[in-house]
Amino acid sequence: MINSFKKMFSVESEPVNTTGKPDICREKSAELYEKAKTYFPGGVNSPVRAFKSVYGTPLFIEKGDGSQLWDADGNQFIDFCCSWGPLILGHNHPKVREKVIEVMQNGMSFGAPTALENELAELILKNNKLIEKMRFVSSGTEAVMSAIRLARGYTKRDKILKFEGCYHGHSDSLLVKAGSGLVTFGETSSAGVPKSFADETIVVALNDKKAIEAAFDEFKGQIAAIIIEPVPANNGLLLQEKAYLQFLREICTQNGTLLIFDEVISGFRVGFEGAAAYYDIKPDILTYGKIIGGGLPVGAYGSSVEIMAHVSPDGGVYQGGTLSGNPVAMAAGIAQLTELLRSNFYRDLDKKTEEFVSAIQRFATARNYKFKVFSIGSIFWFAFTDQEAIRRADEIDASSMELFKKLHRELLNRGVYLGPSGYEVGFISSAHTKIDLEKAKRAIFDSLEVVFGGK
Ligand SMILES: *Cc1c(COP(=O)(O)O)cnc(C)c1O
Repeated sequence: MINSFKKMFSVESEPVNTTGKPDICREKSAELYEKAKTYFPGGVNSPVRAFKSVYGTPLFIEKGDGSQLWDADGNQFIDFCCSWGPLILGHNHPKVREKVIEVMQNGMSFGAPTALENELAELILKNNKLIEKMRFVSSGTEAVMSAIRLARGYTKRDKILKFEGCYHGHSDSLLVKAGSGLVTFGETSSAGVPKSFADETIVVALNDKKAIEAAFDEFKGQIAAIIIEPVPANNGLLLQEKAYLQFLREICTQNGTLLIFDEVISGFRVGFEGAAAYYDIKPDILTYGKIIGGGLPVGAYGSSVEIMAHVSPDGGVYQGGTLSGNPVAMAAGIAQLTELLRSNFYRDLDKKTEEFVSAIQRFATARNYKFKVFSIGSIFWFAFTDQEAIRRADEIDASSMELFKKLHRELLNRGVYLGPSGYEVGFISSAHTKIDLEKAKRAIFDSLEVVFGGK
């Protein structure tokens, strides 16, 4: 999300298609896009959708079913974007659809408690030993924004520390990027964020213990929370070492600083209990989104009984929402999470992903392509690099995104849909069949050959 956002104004002339297959028809999408541009800034309701860093008109989607996606021109794709993560069961899963329809018969929203909120909370809290109490909100952004406020209210401190290369939604204190230097106050990464807000956010590079130590030296007793994506997956897939995450846990404890794991992507993805359980590290506050709502708008944050007692109306940290805990959205969440709790769900999904990515890696390695597939659980990222690991945002070669742009076009022409930015990760759902993955692999092999000029 971060980099697509940065690059939204870098429109270039479209390259002529000289390789691979002819381009798919985008006539209807183009028509819809022209109209959309008169309604919405850039023709979209979220910047990355505008296809600014890949070739061509954004595709307008008409339908999704299982692993498949259809656009307005009738093109069909195997989808590896999966709505940017929420659809771990694929599109239009019958259990989710049926539960939503059933609950909808009773009305859409009451602004009053329903049993469905209890049901989803119980499902989560009974199966997640990291949190004791939670709050439902309507997006990941809202969950993180609320978690930050809670951390500040609880610690009575103002500063937060975040990492360059992690995305936490678009609330003001988090639209902040690193300046130059080891430990910096952030510079705003969006117009409209007051500098004084950015001054409360310290930004450091990932995977750098010295920078964290320096920040705690410089701002002793002032840092309310460190917030991190334990599986940074919004600016490439910057997998961190467990020892580093453990170090963050320890230094937070030593300094009375709360550790927030933003698990909006990794929650319910790398296992039901997310990255915290995967790495066996207990953060103080966790945030969720994406998968938790089964494709409808739900976010959540959770913590210990003691910390959550600070949230209103029990405590002084205000946070509310007209549509929070919306019954239809809760229904989708209940149906989806119920499926995830079936035995071997994650084992099967992860195994399928592992086979998929290792076959692609073998293909690329055998041909000496400068290409790596990084992955964890059912998340993968294609990187045009020969580095063994990429753990920091500044280790990504920005010029390699030109190659992604080519790959994206070739893949669309072969019926494979990836999110329209090389900084974005891909997702595999339980709806992706062996046959889908076989087909996708072949398309990826052929596309890589075109991109690397082997054919
Ligand atoms: C997607 C995402 C968010 C923002 O969630 P929205 O629902 O888009 O507001 C926050 N944090 C992380 C880690 C995310 O991946």
